[in-house]
Amino acid sequence: MELFVESDAQPEILSGERIAVLGYGSQGRAHALNLRDSGYDVVVGLRPGGKTSAQAENDGFSVQTFKDAANGAGLIAFLMPDMAQAEVYEQILGNIKENATILFAHGFNIHYSLITPREDLDVVLIAPKGPGDLVRRQYEAGRGVPCLIGVHQDITEKAEARALAYAHGLGGTRGGVLRTTFGEETETDLFGEQAVLCGGLSELIVRGFQTLVEAGYQPEVAYFECMHEVKLIVDLLHEGGLAKMHEFVSETAKYGDLTSGPKVVDETTQEKMRGVLKEIQDGTFANNWVSEYQSGLPEYNRLLQEDLDSDIETVGAQLRGRMAWLQDS
Ligand code: NAD
Ligand code: MG
Repeated sequence: MELFVESDAQPEILSGERIAVLGYGSQGRAHALNLRDSGYDVVVGLRPGGKTSAQAENDGFSVQTFKDAANGAGLIAFLMPDMAQAEVYEQILGNIKENATILFAHGFNIHYSLITPREDLDVVLIAPKGPGDLVRRQYEAGRGVPCLIGVHQDITEKAEARALAYAHGLGGTRGGVLRTTFGEETETDLFGEQAVLCGGLSELIVRGFQTLVEAGYQPEVAYFECMHEVKLIVDLLHEGGLAKMHEFVSETAKYGDLTSGPKVVDETTQEKMRGVLKEIQDGTFANNWVSEYQSGLPEYNRLLQEDLDSDIETVGAQLRGRMAWLQDS
């Protein structure tokens, strides 16, 4: 493992250069604010009339079109949704100056060749391992969210140093910047969100809930057990791994965990995980996602609506309404 820390960064490598942050959503806002507070020269590029323009202006940025923001910038960060990046790249291509750096926070477009970058550009990855609001809050607290760093194209022979200087401006070197490749970041990120984080975990919760309800237990009680309490366990895992979780749950919970857990999630589940990984590696997932996006998201919208209409959502909305502290964050 290769980890860069604060003393490895050369922030001056980007001094005197303009950084164009294109997109002002979860990552874009955090990057633009952190980089500006770190003393970099930042401009924000957005679609004219887009919803996030007002927010960027409130935060004191003069908002420009993608093209104008990119014009003359030494480094251009693509921080709009992955499916929109190729179109934005085509739009600004004529305005990207020679030997500039283009930067991504996720490797999808480069790894699956949705963007084939011009040969004179440095192409780098800085992927913060957390959502934008965490990247911003940790920076403000004098800490930083760890990042992954990768280089796809190094024309200036300074691509990695330039990317590291950017990560440093985000606060990333305080948390540590780990070297990876576009391929490793993209495939592991997709696998994590599909098999474990968003996909796997939510399916486990919903099926646990359904199992209790169909056996005649009250949906409210099932909700507390299978959805609400996930946070307690995730916090323990996040703070101290399996050891801390085991330390804080009861002896009975621990025995049940060790003996029943492997019955629920077993070799057949892992075999399916390998199948999911294979479709990520061979490009099947990326092809499906691109064609779904291009045909107007019919299947995506149908599945999403099914999730939102499910019983656990109805019960959950009612119960969460009674837990005032949940509305604080
Ligand atoms: P987001 O969805 O929050 O981006 C919204 C911004 O993009 C807004 O400013 C909006 O005006 C603009 N936008 C939306 N649709 C557009 C379109 N069709 N054309 C042009 N602009 C459009 O994006 P995000 O979640 O911050 O993701 C940005 C990048 O960061 C992605 O590559 C993503 O994979 C990566 N990333 C995200 C997270 C995260 O936690 N959200 C974490 C790590 C990496
Ligand atoms: Mg689901």
